[in-house]
Amino acid sequence: MSKTIFCKRCLYNSKHPLGLIIDGEGICSGCRIHEEKNILDWSSRKEKIIKIIKKYKSKKNNYDCVVPISGAEDSYYIVHLVKNVLKLNPLLVCYNKYFNSETGIKNLSNLRIKFDCDIIFKNINPHTIKKITKYTLSEFGNIYWPILAGTTVFPLEISEKYKIPLIIWGAHQGIEQVGMYSHLDEVEMTRRYRHEHDLFGFEAEDLIKIDNNLTEDDVWHFKYPSDKTINKNGIRGIYLSNYFRWDPYAQHKLMVKLYNYKGLNFSRTFDIFDYVDCFNYMNIHDFLKLSKHGYSKVTDHASREIRHGRISRNNGIDLVLKYEQKTINHINLFCDWLGIDDKSLKFILDRFKNNEYWSTKNYINFTFNGHSKKLRKKKSFNKKLNFFGIKKSKHNETDNLKYITFGKGYP
Ligand SMILES: [Zn+2]
Repeated sequence: MSKTIFCKRCLYNSKHPLGLIIDGEGICSGCRIHEEKNILDWSSRKEKIIKIIKKYKSKKNNYDCVVPISGAEDSYYIVHLVKNVLKLNPLLVCYNKYFNSETGIKNLSNLRIKFDCDIIFKNINPHTIKKITKYTLSEFGNIYWPILAGTTVFPLEISEKYKIPLIIWGAHQGIEQVGMYSHLDEVEMTRRYRHEHDLFGFEAEDLIKIDNNLTEDDVWHFKYPSDKTINKNGIRGIYLSNYFRWDPYAQHKLMVKLYNYKGLNFSRTFDIFDYVDCFNYMNIHDFLKLSKHGYSKVTDHASREIRHGRISRNNGIDLVLKYEQKTINHINLFCDWLGIDDKSLKFILDRFKNNEYWSTKNYINFTFNGHSKKLRKKKSFNKKLNFFGIKKSKHNETDNLKYITFGKGYP
């Protein structure tokens, strides 16, 4: 087993699942690429994107670009840039992830009103989604595969169907988290990144197995278009974060002020703006990430804030220690939706506990440069997994304890 080396500046280590390099000074590639944010001439970067989008401006009565959105994350800021700064006429597309919170639905409806854009939703038959979720949960410990697969394929479908070749995304996670590319590489959406990172190597067709009940009818929605289709239609996807200095926390605060974007307090992280549209992202999904990779979303948030200079590394460690092992909520909602009982779920979750990070005594096994003692004092992993019986969050994590349905979102 190779040694885990922590970055001296942020809280990531050399085992980051997206792949990360620590240099001779002990600083990770994510932090190094982040330095570009303070060096690059962002006004000339903006000129660059204005040049790129020029040829996509529709001369006929059509949209200029496709913009994938949700009721959370950077959606408001993306639409703000596309519509008000770049002066484009976007067609918004939203993949219904079904774990919808009331806050997310409110944000989505407010976004439609405030920006006055047309929007198309994709609502795949929930029975199909449940079948796939059951399989990806039990095989890979992942409940987000259909969401990531659907979110990354639906914009291309619309692009092809409506002959709108330009797709505009917000940030590139590989750049933001681990510095996979320089901003100057102007990397665009690729089949390969989706395959390796969003779908962790499993395409729709790989899901069909003899021992599950998935068929071609279930998975076709998630198939990425062929290169021939992409090339014939000139489809390309660009990332705004290569052309605008990306700072999600500051951006969200601005969106609250300008457009009344709604945040939400979570029990497992201090950031109140990301993932407010979903019951499960900051709960069971976050717990699975912690089990498999030894860290959870709060580490992403803390590392981001350290890089932006708003907190120190020690503050970041304290935040991780405070939030990382908090109870996960809404397990019963998820079990009811999926049609499994909580005992089966616990059995599945236990299978994905990575021994590299969790000792047999259920203590956290890894260290943050000398902060190991503090971590080892934490209570056991399983004791904290006290999720049986639904817990009404003290933290106002959701407005209403049911998945909000729309489109085909019947139970
Ligand atoms: Zn770092």
